[in-house]
Amino acid sequence: MTARPPDEDAARPVLLVDRVSRSYPGGVTALHEVSLSLEAGELLAIVGPSGSGKSTLLNLMGTLDLPSSGRVDIGGTDVTSLNDRQLSTLRGHLLGFVFQQFHLTDGLTALENVSTGLLYAGVPRRHRRGLADEALSRVGLAHRTGHLPAQLSGGERQRVAIARALVHDPALILADEPTGALDTASGESVMELLTDLNREGTTIAVITHDRDIAARLPRRVEIRDGRLTSDTRSGAISALR
Ligand code: ADP
Repeated sequence: MTARPPDEDAARPVLLVDRVSRSYPGGVTALHEVSLSLEAGELLAIVGPSGSGKSTLLNLMGTLDLPSSGRVDIGGTDVTSLNDRQLSTLRGHLLGFVFQQFHLTDGLTALENVSTGLLYAGVPRRHRRGLADEALSRVGLAHRTGHLPAQLSGGERQRVAIARALVHDPALILADEPTGALDTASGESVMELLTDLNREGTTIAVITHDRDIAARLPRRVEIRDGRLTSDTRSGAISALR
């Protein structure tokens, strides 16, 4: 009997940040030798006060910026070895982004905004509408597909942005303060949605300065002055209400 080769993909983290530092011109070192590994299926909160290095870390995790030293692997690829075009292809296929201010295009309907998430994933035009429809249904907006962003509430806009982030089935969704521009009730509902998507298998990292939000997520990494100071896992996701 031949032994089966080990399933390397199953063992490989979705994201690996290995002793990453990032200095800015002028002498600020925003991250000092940060290491972090994220497995498929995790829901991670990165928490820390303003100025602690959260956005810098998120930009590096999302390949929007490259480290001054150290290495970032996404889906097993060392992103520091890629050129701009390769990075953009990797982002289009493997990553989804959610921002505090939604970043939707004003003149496009919800459906069109979500379809744009498929442009860079190389999905043929004829499939985009159906997939965008499906993604909007997943976030509870099947009845709002023809609405423009101005016709939607803040919470609904963030749901459109989440649909756009997940429509191409990325390996990892990165959310930067996704509830920061929302009232408490809409924020809770957006966090519930992210938690539900994670239960369905989506890997998500959420940056937040809100300790209450972080405390409810199954894994929390704390960052202070550019250094990771703790990495805590709870057995289960606690109730959001
Ligand atoms: P956070 O997201 O936690 O608020 P940041 O990652 O934005 O933290 O910032 C970390 C540190 O790096 C801060 O001291 C900030 O002033 C500095 N910083 C961030 N971006 C730049 C930049 N482009 N140029 C110079 N310093 C920067």
